[in-house]
Amino acid sequence: MATHKILLLPGDGIGPEVAQEVSKVLAWFTRAGIAQFETETDLVGGAAIDAHGVPLSEAAMDRAKAADAVLFGAVGGPKWAGVSYAKRPEAGLLRLRKDLGLFANLRPAICYPALAEASALKRELVEGLDIVIVRELTGGVYFGEPKEIVTLEDGQKRAVDTQVYTTGEIERIAAVAFDLARKRRNKVASAEKHNVMKTGVLWKETVTKLHAEQYSDVGLEHVLADNCAMQLVRNPKQYDVLVTDNLFGDILSDVAAMLTGSLGMLPSASLGAVENGTRRALYEPVHGSAPDIAGQNLANPIAMIGSLAMALRYSFGLLEAADQLEGAITRTLAAGTRTRDIAGPGTNAVGTTEMGDAIVREL
Ligand code: ATP
Ligand code: MG
Repeated sequence: MATHKILLLPGDGIGPEVAQEVSKVLAWFTRAGIAQFETETDLVGGAAIDAHGVPLSEAAMDRAKAADAVLFGAVGGPKWAGVSYAKRPEAGLLRLRKDLGLFANLRPAICYPALAEASALKRELVEGLDIVIVRELTGGVYFGEPKEIVTLEDGQKRAVDTQVYTTGEIERIAAVAFDLARKRRNKVASAEKHNVMKTGVLWKETVTKLHAEQYSDVGLEHVLADNCAMQLVRNPKQYDVLVTDNLFGDILSDVAAMLTGSLGMLPSASLGAVENGTRRALYEPVHGSAPDIAGQNLANPIAMIGSLAMALRYSFGLLEAADQLEGAITRTLAAGTRTRDIAGPGTNAVGTTEMGDAIVREL
């Protein structure tokens, strides 16, 4: 049985609390003989600042590079608010993203049946929702040059942002989306605005060409980004994998997130280049360190445990184990187990550790 190398970086606030529940799940898979993990733990964020004076030590960075996947909790908190930018806890995560070359951000929007009832949205709209948005993370208008504000001769100011994409950047993000779709429902929608943007024209052309050459077995649909936003609200279940650029991805993934309920439920993955046969990857909950509830056994560990499920599926190729874990989460919720963030008013809530235990019991 292959051994999967994991670097666990719990971080700050509720990070260590939710990471603890992931450790329980990993231990269960090992005990059950389903998979073999070699897990190392290191400090990141404020915890690393306190111990080493920097938000990520060189040793931790080396371990991240050597691991098959990094599982990241959350960083930051009021204690480190005053420190300089380079030493802020968040700089630890930015360094990981940059040095691991993580150019693809995957944000699933899953709506568990047991929570669809409580959704403020129409139940039939979100019940059973399971889509993944693949957002390009290192290019586009966030980084394109020129990027400036200049003062004109007449005293007005002029601001410029530049959207830049190369075929190489588009191909590699599209390949991530197609590969992902093959492990899911085999459907990709690609969102851009080729009607008004040259980058949109190139995006559509490049995705179409890659599809014809290497992924013709996968369904492909092109959609204008504004129409896509509307479709996500009108009928989100029509999508499986949705691939888009940095800016549209930022907006569309927030729209999709709101279809699902609590921040404490949303996992994410950031993927990089393939090196020596493995794709660099970091998995983390969408939520932050939540200082307001830290240390009180109140955090919902499902976003973090769901991030592990993504690692099982996308980094380790353990598709059945991933299904099994997601099934256990679904059944735990169906049995009525709720942490405070997803418990309705007047409903009994369990703590972080109890939620983790309940999921392991379902496994
Ligand atoms: P960051 O800037 O690090 O993203 P943030 O301030 O935007 O952090 P969070 O730390 O995610 O946001 O917290 C936002 C709110 O959501 C807080 O009230 C927090 O308690 C709540 N929250 C976040 N994560 C969870 C969780 N796993 N379980 C329960 N509540 C959570
Ligand atoms: Mg935030």
